Amino acid sequence: MTDAPALPPLREVIRAHGLRAEKALGQNFLLDEQLLDRIAAVPGELAGRTAYEVGPGPGGLTRALLRRGATVVAVERDRRCLPALAEVAQAFDGRLTVIDADALRVDERALAGDGAHVVANLPYNVGTALFVRWLGGETWPPWWASLTLMFQAEVAERLVAGPGSEAYGRLSVLAQWRAKPRLALRVHRSAFVPPPKVMSAVVHLEPAAAPDGVRTGVLEALTGAAFGQRRKMLRQSLKAVPGALDAADRLGLDVTRRGETLSVDEFVALAREVGAAALCPSGERREF
Ligand code: SAM
Repeated sequence: MTDAPALPPLREVIRAHGLRAEKALGQNFLLDEQLLDRIAAVPGELAGRTAYEVGPGPGGLTRALLRRGATVVAVERDRRCLPALAEVAQAFDGRLTVIDADALRVDERALAGDGAHVVANLPYNVGTALFVRWLGGETWPPWWASLTLMFQAEVAERLVAGPGSEAYGRLSVLAQWRAKPRLALRVHRSAFVPPPKVMSAVVHLEPAAAPDGVRTGVLEALTGAAFGQRRKMLRQSLKAVPGALDAADRLGLDVTRRGETLSVDEFVALAREVGAAALCPSGERREF
């Protein structure tokens, strides 16, 4: 940890800069420094590394990342926060760069560079959209070294859920087929100002090796079909994906099972088989 320069407490910063939390921007601020330090510790060693933070707000998590020695690139769309963040940048000798933009519209790889650790406490809809973008690309390994993201607890549980559970779904497969997600810490709603209606949790993911011969588009089509009709047997739900029933047959998958009982490895095997058949020169090439 680097020595923290003297900055006013976050409550004072919020008061001084008139940062009344805006519901439309999903603003629920974290002010407890011990909790913020625990979140900033989740990615592991950050000294000399780049952290890419989305939605720094008044800068609580930003300060915690800087205290751990990271260089921080932060994207914030609420211009009211910029003067407070400029004070943080000055206090930490320019180790903080703030981009005034909508995080859904920036090229984060160009901003943060390869190997950045992504850390964010975001509104639910923005966090999920970015998560799908960061996990869903065809290019792997990704530009980021790890993701440490706050979600509402129910979504966090979906990301780490296993087959057969109610929480298991498309997001679980997306998160687990080539990454290792873990629920790093639960955060009580009362830790936020103002408190949201639901509990939250921080999920940490590191990229793992991608299984050979699997295209994201095929896997997404399969999970879309399987979980879109959760109550249906595979022999019904897989009809939506060209070649999937034949592929299941070749793999010896029991098509009287429901999609939600398939493990991530079984989805991966099925996607590989469907993809291989789609590229087969004897058949027509199918696009996903
Ligand atoms: N990181 C701060 C904290 O932990 O106290 C603020 C968290 S608050 C839940 C979410 C922050 O994300 C707000 O500052 C909000 O303005 C910002 N935000 C919301 N949507 C955004 C977007 N599309 N791009 C960038 N920032 C966004």
